[in-house]
Amino acid sequence: MKIEEYLWTFNMPTDHPRVSFTDVWVPDTAMFGPEGGGLALAQHFVHENRIRQAASSLGAATFCIEESVKYARVRKPFGKPLSENQAIQFPLVELASTAEMLRLLIRKTAWEMDQMTKPEVEKRLSDKVSMCNYQANRLVCEAADRAMQVHGGIGYSRHKPFEHIYRHHRRYRITEGSEEIQIRKVAAWLFGYMGPRKAAFAEAGL
Ligand SMILES: Cc1cc2nc3c(=O)[nH]c(=O)nc-3n(C[C@H](O)[C@H](O)[C@H](O)COP(=O)(O)OP(=O)(O)OC[C@H]3O[C@@H](n4cnc5c(N)ncnc54)[C@H](O)[C@@H]3O)c2cc1C
Repeated sequence: MKIEEYLWTFNMPTDHPRVSFTDVWVPDTAMFGPEGGGLALAQHFVHENRIRQAASSLGAATFCIEESVKYARVRKPFGKPLSENQAIQFPLVELASTAEMLRLLIRKTAWEMDQMTKPEVEKRLSDKVSMCNYQANRLVCEAADRAMQVHGGIGYSRHKPFEHIYRHHRRYRITEGSEEIQIRKVAAWLFGYMGPRKAAFAEAGL
């Protein structure tokens, strides 16, 4: 196995390389599950990873919101706290409201996941996990962006963590099933092409 090159990413330095394999032989004892069963194996842990990303993004989003609120109270351009301006308050209120709703959905979904086996999660909760994932990953990008804005020039600098939070979490909208793939999953369940509503829709002749 050869590492051909390391790819520079938005959140570099990176450990993402392009690799090549030459004459690689894998003994039976090193096989992880049956041949051809890789996708099913991978699907065992995508839900755990998706909800983990969601919780991580929600935590980072909350940090961005709280830091922005604190900074807006102490920063006083021309003697008046930033926090007194509705243009500063309103976007942070929108973010705080979404964070609060998502916190409840993530906790409920994670709690339900703990009550069932992994195959059951796939059958009964996959859409909820996707909802948590894409919404929280979007939220953190919006919150980090807003935090940079509220903090002004210093927010854009590396003396504050917001640009790093943005770079780190932006990839969550692509990895572990991209945003579009999460939304596609929710749509498939909502319209009964997959998931628990499929049988009911078919029975109703829809
Ligand atoms: C930083 C980083 C870390 C990663 N870590 C891992 C890892 O640890 N393990 C691993 O296995 N992979 C990892 N990946 C790979 C990651 O899983 C893929 O990049 C991701 O699944 C998207 O696949 P792709 O890049 O081939 O994009 P494509 O599949 O080519 O998609 C390109 C764009 O088209 C959209 N798209 C694709 N299909 C549809 C559709 N049907 N409808 C609408 N839009 C669609 C996608 O959402 C995306 O926006 C990582 C990637 C990055 C950037």
